[in-house]
Amino acid sequence: MSTIPEVDPHRDVLVVIDVQNDFCPGGALAVADGDAVVPVINTLAQRFEHLVLTQDWHPPGHHSFAGAHPGRTPFETVEFAYGPQTLWPDHCVQGTPGAALHAGLDLARAQLLIRKGFRPDIDSYSVFYENDRASPTGLAGYLRERGFSRVFLCGLATDYCVAWSALDARRLHFDAVVLLDACRAIDLDGSLGRALQVMREAGVVLAQDSEAH
Ligand SMILES: [Zn+2]
Repeated sequence: MSTIPEVDPHRDVLVVIDVQNDFCPGGALAVADGDAVVPVINTLAQRFEHLVLTQDWHPPGHHSFAGAHPGRTPFETVEFAYGPQTLWPDHCVQGTPGAALHAGLDLARAQLLIRKGFRPDIDSYSVFYENDRASPTGLAGYLRERGFSRVFLCGLATDYCVAWSALDARRLHFDAVVLLDACRAIDLDGSLGRALQVMREAGVVLAQDSEAH
């Protein structure tokens, strides 16, 4: 692990991923200790001039919901047209309280909100591409047009949306830093360890405040 690099306001942007009620304790797809990231993110965000938020935003009956597949249960893996896909409990349904950003986030000055997962048949982990790996969210173009070359990533969950986003950032030739203090993981069958390893191999900087650990 590295300490958190110094932020360059001209080239750096903080992307806060899916800090939504359904991913926090009490939510439909709660990440253990998920809401613990909120105060950490609020503090870290003060170092950045440029903030982007993302929101998982599914229509009712989304194809990634186990409830849309009779006989299937959440966390099973099934084959979709684009490859293996984990089935999830219904979560982050458009316009519901569960889909709302956590009320404790103090990020009103964020400049962009990217919504993902709204195509009925395609799930969405990365903030850059939907899970078919072909449908872009538009974030890469936005970042390039704004002149940002390094993305700092935090939010929920480390081993899914944060990791997939960081790996896509590297593929798209952005520098990527994951702020581990400001992430929490689902850790399904060792998925956290695998995600950290793959991110390291892809040149993602895994950073945390040394004082915090
Ligand atoms: Zn989702």
